[in-house]
Amino acid sequence: MLTGFKTLVRKATALFTSENIMESPLVIPKEKHSLTDNELSPNALKVLHRLNGAGYDAYLVGGCIRDHLIGITPKDFDVVTNATPEEVHSLFSNSRLIGRRFRLVHVTFGREIIEVSTFRANTTIDSSQAPKHDENESLKNKDTARSSHGIILRDNVWGSIDEDAQRRDFTFNALYFNVKDRSIHDFCNGLSDIENKQIRIIGDPRERYKEDPVRMLRAIRFAGKLGFDLEPETAAPIKEMAHLLDHIPPARLFEEVLKLLGSGQGVTTFQLLREYGLFKYLFPDTDAILNSGWKRNDIDPERFVLQGLENTDLRILDGKSTAPYFLYAILLWPSVCLRHEEFESQGLPTTPALHQAATMVLDNQVASTSIPRRFSTPMREIWDLQFRLPKRYGKRAFVLLQHPRFRAAFDFLLIRELSGTELDGLGAWWENFQHAPENQQKDLISKADPRKSDPDAKKRRPRRRRKSNAAKRQSPEN
Ligand code: ATP
Ligand code: MG
Repeated sequence: MLTGFKTLVRKATALFTSENIMESPLVIPKEKHSLTDNELSPNALKVLHRLNGAGYDAYLVGGCIRDHLIGITPKDFDVVTNATPEEVHSLFSNSRLIGRRFRLVHVTFGREIIEVSTFRANTTIDSSQAPKHDENESLKNKDTARSSHGIILRDNVWGSIDEDAQRRDFTFNALYFNVKDRSIHDFCNGLSDIENKQIRIIGDPRERYKEDPVRMLRAIRFAGKLGFDLEPETAAPIKEMAHLLDHIPPARLFEEVLKLLGSGQGVTTFQLLREYGLFKYLFPDTDAILNSGWKRNDIDPERFVLQGLENTDLRILDGKSTAPYFLYAILLWPSVCLRHEEFESQGLPTTPALHQAATMVLDNQVASTSIPRRFSTPMREIWDLQFRLPKRYGKRAFVLLQHPRFRAAFDFLLIRELSGTELDGLGAWWENFQHAPENQQKDLISKADPRKSDPDAKKRRPRRRRKSNAAKRQSPEN
């Protein structure tokens, strides 16, 4: 990906000051790296050229440069510029201003969104002492704000490219591609860290995690995704600072969870999250169950969650889609099983006990990560269907097959079986049933009917007699 890389890194190291900040960026000319227009999104190039044409500076930054240098196909393209969000917005009719905490512009091309942000200044300094840039003349508290815990609540103070690089999270995310001469600018020695497969936070780790605790999650995400190690000083404060995640809005953590566990390296990332004591702040109930060692004949929580994540990883590897509700249904199933048992032991019948359990688990979870209703409803359906799939007699199997969540519930069932839950061949039965011709389907149903194999079953079933209207009127309940 890079040629003459070691020499470049040696030169770069010489440019560092004692604070580990480069005096000037290391510039890698186009002949020394393999990033060409062919690797870039044509839409991102359009955005860069339009901004440059209007007289602004504009660079590609972050994940797209990092991933390309590592040899991974970039997931999306982020642009950074010295134009303000309003100026960017006025240049693109297909754009919209988004965010309050971090204002930026989304430029939309069909399904692709190019995120355009404005160079940020470092706001660790008191705003009254902030360096004077044209835009900063009008600096007001509405542009920058911190919580009492030091967490950045708003970060909308514009700055220069050097300042922008210093306030990015990791060294390998502070690489800028200049489309004018196709050079890459490395402000924080990110290339050397890529070479050493290291994740290194820019600046003082404690200060940077305090400003934004989500950076701890991002560090783990990149460790999982890239297979890199956390540089020791970057790793050191995480366990003791993990609790700061309690101050992050649940909606933001929900988005992070999807990126952490739903992007192909779920198993490794889950293990790292637990190792660094972060998982507890995302899924407190699940974490408590895993730590307690609780298991039952029909569920081994750790095996089940790992199996679910592994299946999700494999699906992603195969280019198949995965649904966030499925991931969440997996992660919360051990809690649902535990609560269900508790409600049943209090005398509730199975189905109401399950509904109560689901409600309780979801209510507890949304204090940590939000779960939009469009996800919680299918999660409940998947859980509910686990209790309905064993009951296949009569017309039930055909009705279940038509259920909009049948496929997800069936996949869920297979994961339960794969993780050691003994369900008497239920997964294989449904597999056969789905693909069998109609006459064989009837055969399968009749074999699965418990009343056939146990002649007493029918007799034992208490028959519910419908009350006649006359009887209803006489009943003392009415
Ligand atoms: P990917 O998109 O592949 O998940 P990414 O690094 O591009 O990875 P984004 O969330 O798209 O991640 O962010 C784009 C860039 O913005 C990052 O590379 C980083 O430079 C900067 N950034 C994102 N989040 C933070 C943060 N919490 N603190 C500081 N800088 C951040
Ligand atoms: Mg990105």
